[in-house]
Amino acid sequence: MTTTEAVPETRSFEADVAKLLHLMVHSVYSDKDVFLRELISNAADACEKLRYEGLSDPALLGEDGQPRITVTLDPDNRQLAIEDNGIGMSEAEMGEALGTIARSGTKAFMDRIAGAKDAEGSQLIGQFGVGFYSAFMVADKVDVVSRRAGADTAAIWSSDGLGTYTIQPTNLAEAPARGTRVLLHLKEDAASYTESFTIERTIKAQSGHVPVPIFLQEKPDAEPKQIADGAALWTRPKAEITTEEYKDFYRSVAGQYDEPALTLHYRAEGLHEYNVLAFVPETKPFDLFDPDRAGRMKLYVRRVFITDEAQILPRYLRFVRGLVDSADLPLNVSREMIQESPVLAAIQKGVSNRILSELDKLSASDSERYLKIWDNFGAVLKEGLYEDYARREQLLGLARFKTTASGDAWRSLKDYAAGLKENQTAIYYATGSDLGRLASSPQLEGFRARGIEVLLLADQVDSFWVTGMDYEGKPFKSVTQGLADLSLIPLPESETPAADASDAVNGFIAFVKTTLGDAVSDVRVSDRLTESAVCLVAPEHAMDRQLEKLLAGAGRLDATAKPVLEINPRHALIAKLSEAGEGDQALREDAAHLLFDEARIADGELPVDPRAFSARLTRVLGRGL
Ligand code: ADP
Ligand code: MG
Repeated sequence: MTTTEAVPETRSFEADVAKLLHLMVHSVYSDKDVFLRELISNAADACEKLRYEGLSDPALLGEDGQPRITVTLDPDNRQLAIEDNGIGMSEAEMGEALGTIARSGTKAFMDRIAGAKDAEGSQLIGQFGVGFYSAFMVADKVDVVSRRAGADTAAIWSSDGLGTYTIQPTNLAEAPARGTRVLLHLKEDAASYTESFTIERTIKAQSGHVPVPIFLQEKPDAEPKQIADGAALWTRPKAEITTEEYKDFYRSVAGQYDEPALTLHYRAEGLHEYNVLAFVPETKPFDLFDPDRAGRMKLYVRRVFITDEAQILPRYLRFVRGLVDSADLPLNVSREMIQESPVLAAIQKGVSNRILSELDKLSASDSERYLKIWDNFGAVLKEGLYEDYARREQLLGLARFKTTASGDAWRSLKDYAAGLKENQTAIYYATGSDLGRLASSPQLEGFRARGIEVLLLADQVDSFWVTGMDYEGKPFKSVTQGLADLSLIPLPESETPAADASDAVNGFIAFVKTTLGDAVSDVRVSDRLTESAVCLVAPEHAMDRQLEKLLAGAGRLDATAKPVLEINPRHALIAKLSEAGEGDQALREDAAHLLFDEARIADGELPVDPRAFSARLTRVLGRGL
């Protein structure tokens, strides 16, 4: 019988992977060290998965229960190997895990990296979980040899990262007894990754706190030396941990390259015991607005990693990174059952409360740092205002706003309440998509004249939480809705109060109303305008116009309410038009339509009928010449 050498099957990478590899190799020139962190983090993940599966199937662990990562240098052959004794991969799993990209965020990642500057590009890699492929930044060939725990076969995956890869079975003798070896054939300019000094320093800095011990072998046959102990940082006393250690740990647990803006490390005792080590990032993670809005907090039970899908925190705290290590959850609880566990519910409540109260403390002790956090994550935190009724007060206390009174500074509702005007019964706000445009809306004029502060809400989420909200007994009221009712609030002495509209003006208003007919629900005298001639507002009991626009834009509204056109009787143009008299019917008609279109344009909308608008504008301008 003759044995033929098996021809390895060549497969192509998924199109996205090929593109990703190309981008990675061509956009990241410095900071290539990240590949090491990514491979070590995969090795550590594999060890943690085994630890977890070993709970229900101890046979998987066999004789070798101690998780371990070994990094081996081979300067003579310009090779670097990262080996773990974790869960390993079967042939099929390798094809699945190393030929495709499962993550939904990857498309977004690629768009970003294509336009990113060098330093940004390398930051993006870890955040999007495209970690393994970063090996090709330093290697022109990568071999992955793996044997899954409990299996009696092994396989080798091999690729030059240029579009195809091969997978084939391999001798058990060539493979780790259990787990995975990733062998990098380093590029010429990456030879420094075989220097033990460089590698040791890089690993300690990037991965010194992964929960698995790391050993370094300076040559393939040298004695391995331990360079990281795999001790769980979070179980050590706070006083012994340096800022630097927290930062390294944060980076490895969060996949971020920035500094933590807030570090929270404590042990809960009492009914339930657990350790919490949580961080608020300094910059926005890129998955912040992923549709699933999933959190990334990890759940451990007595130092064994269980899952990062337990949703320990409410969705509006999804920017918090870190872990909770519970002493009370049973170790053999299935991931599915965890979600139902009352222990988890208690943890969720405890940790969420603590994070909010820490943020509150920070806002008092270091407002500058707090405002940075608010600037990054305020839009996410505000989701809690309508999703988490129980913590609404707390969240309102944390909220900061740009307002008509603040210039560029942030104001709290407490600040706002302290500046309430005599007879002011509501907290006024304006919503829109652009702060600058909001600040110059005509609807604000009357409020400005009276010195009434208006919250300027420019985040999408604002239109949702603000409906039906109140603070210290004062309802939130949109400046673009209903009657402004400003007459009770006195004007400063420098301003002369408006006289009642004259009969001529009232006549003109009635004329505009007839002319516009069905297009508006009413035309009336405004007390919110001081400089502009006209503006649009929503009828008293209709939806706020901005919310209406958002919902209509999302196809979630069939009919929109007709707006109210408000007219400023003090405006010179209005006075003149009112005096124009019945004789100039054509001009008055054009003017009625043009005023309505002008108000629409001020709100960022198109004229009702752009062609008719141009014709009217041309006629009116022509008359003026
Ligand atoms: P991520 O770690 O975010 O899932 P990676 O690109 O780093 O993304 O890795 C892709 C997948 O490859 C992993 O999810 C895992 O299934 C598999 N993998 C990579 N390295 C190892 C390893 N050392 N042991 C077992 N599986 C691994
Ligand atoms: Mg990874």
